This record gives sequence, structure tokens and C-alpha cells, in this order.
Amino acid sequence: MAGSSTRDLGRFLEDLLDLLDRGSFTATYKYAVLLGLIDLCVEGADATRGVAPTTVTTRQLAEKVVALYWPQARPWRFEDDRVEVLRQVNMKNRQASIVRLVQAFRARHEDRSPARARRADPTGFEKLIRKVEWELIKNPLPRLQIIGRETVPLLYRIAWDLSIEGEKRRVTAYQRGVGDFDNRIRLLDGVGEGLAALGPLLRPVLHREWAAMVARFNDLPESRLEEFLFGSRREGVARLARPLAEMQHGDCFYCGRPLKGAVEVDHFVPWSRHPDDGLDNLVAAHRSCNGGKSDLLAAPEHLARWLHRSPARIERLARHLGWPRDRDRTRAISSWMYRRVRPGSVLWIEGNKRRRRVRRATPEDVAAIARAYGWR
Ligand SMILES: [Zn+2]
Repeated sequence: MAGSSTRDLGRFLEDLLDLLDRGSFTATYKYAVLLGLIDLCVEGADATRGVAPTTVTTRQLAEKVVALYWPQARPWRFEDDRVEVLRQVNMKNRQASIVRLVQAFRARHEDRSPARARRADPTGFEKLIRKVEWELIKNPLPRLQIIGRETVPLLYRIAWDLSIEGEKRRVTAYQRGVGDFDNRIRLLDGVGEGLAALGPLLRPVLHREWAAMVARFNDLPESRLEEFLFGSRREGVARLARPLAEMQHGDCFYCGRPLKGAVEVDHFVPWSRHPDDGLDNLVAAHRSCNGGKSDLLAAPEHLARWLHRSPARIERLARHLGWPRDRDRTRAISSWMYRRVRPGSVLWIEGNKRRRRVRRATPEDVAAIARAYGWR
């Protein structure tokens, strides 16, 4: 699907909706797999050419799936005051294996993010990833594309099927670095590009469907649930406002005027386009500037400033605050988003919601973006 034409994207989307519609899943894994693949496609885009990957590994997917289930494996307070982890499988008194694994590990590292838990207990975390990887290999990955009794590849090809369940040894051997197990999930032509391009549209749909399924399994109303499952730390970033403002010498990142009164934390790559709470993606801004930018991409003049901030100072701040950062990931995400700016794309320049100055990207803007990233 070179160039990802509209027709191809349409076809891809149809296949995907078809896959979501099929009711053969008794657990929420298919949502986790799809969301994990979307993240890997954006974050794994080739740094020099901006092309989505054609292959991801089961290991990479396991890390993403652990991150997705991490907040969901904390207890939920039911109306009758029971406090339990929500069931993610359609069987009474059972829990989806992956949730059980994450829950058990999480319980030993209370209230830490996956990144911090991993630092605190690298060996335990590695074990968790390997167990989750095995679960993905034996269940959702071979199952996801089965229609009736047949496997019909819509998204990817893998070198194994459901019979792998009897061959756990092969997988554990591979995890120790020996043996012949092929851990690649080979994305069909155009799928990586499609998942990454449609990610901003697909993510809310997948979240909603996932929340609806959990609501059904637990006899709950859906409304509060989506926030609980996917609410992330978006609110938690508020505590970063002041330290970020200090790093910016007390000025708004966008307009450069002094920050007085309410300071907000803005996601440079908008949260709605890709949820990235890493410190590198965060800046302090006026409420009005933040609100005006909303879910638009900032113009290249902002981008250049953003890219050229001192990594050392961000690193110091991250350590001081105990806030996670992943510079490469944030850069990969932003370069994916900016790589797709074309003449005519809307860019935010300045101003609040009501008096917002935007412009249609010009060829000069596209060139300025390329310069900022050092492409070609
Ligand atoms: Zn401002």
C-alpha cells in the first residue's frame, strides 16, 4: 500500500471492523493486541524514512500489552463496596491470565508505573514480560484471525498456530536465546502504515468497545468505566506545571510571555493523536495557549524550539520528579506525526480557542519540519 491511498485505507478499515465484530473472543485480548500494534507501528516508524514497520515481535507486543493492562489491574470499588480487580474474561470467578499476571506483579510494586517497577525489580519484570509473551503466543495471536475454522490473515502472518500450546518448551527456549521459534509478527502489506495512520481514529473506538466488554463481564454501567480503564495519568501531569515552567524560565512555551496565574501542562504531540505522557512530550503553557492549540499540531517554529531543548535538563527534571521519560519514543511519535504534514495541513500558530491563528502548511513549512528533524 505504498503511499496509502484512500481506497486501500478504506479496505483496511473494513477488514479491521470485520475483525472487531466477530464475537469469538471470551476475553478482552483482541483490543489489547490491536492497541499494542498501533503503538508499535507509530513508535517503530523508520527514523530516516518515516515508514511504519513491516514486522514487530511478540516480545515488543508483550511489553505494550503489559502497559495497557497495568492500570486496569488495580482494584475497582463496586456499589456494594466489594473491591476487586475487574474481570476481563467472560467466565464467573475467573480472570484473564494476562490480567492475573499483571495484577500479581503490580501488587508487589504498589502504585508504581511499569517503568519504575521495572527499575525496582528488573528480574521480576522480565519474568512477567516472558509469561505475558507466552500467553499472547498461544492464545490471541493465533486466534485473532480465525474465521469459522480457518485462519484468514487480515493483519499479519505468524509462523505458528493454536497447536503451539503443546510446545511451550520451544517458546521458553527462544526466550532464553536458543531454538528456532520465530517471534515475528509480519504485518501484511500496508497494515503498519494503516494502523499508524488510523491510530487517532481507532484508539477511541477500541477503548469504547473494550470498556463495553468489561462492563458486560462485570455487570457495570459503561460510563465511569472508560475513564477508569484508560484515564491514564493525564490529570496527574498537573503537578509538573510548576517545575516545567521553571525549566522554561517562567515563560509560556508557545507565546514566550510570562506565565502568571493558571499554568497548564500541554502535550506537545496532542494526547488525542497519541497518548504520550513522557516528560519530553510535556511543556508548560498558558491555559489560553494550551486550549487554542487543542488537538492541532504546532507550527514548525514551535517544533524547532521543542526539539532543541536541552536533553540534560529534561533528564535532571525527570530524575528529580521521578517522572518517566523515553526520549526516543517521544521523538519517534512526533516525527511520525510531523512526517505526515503536507501542504494544506492545519498548523496552530498562536491564540486561544476563540481567537486562534492557524495556517495551512506551505511547502516552506514542510521543508522547515524536515530541517528541524534533520531529514535528508
Ligand atoms: Zn502562552
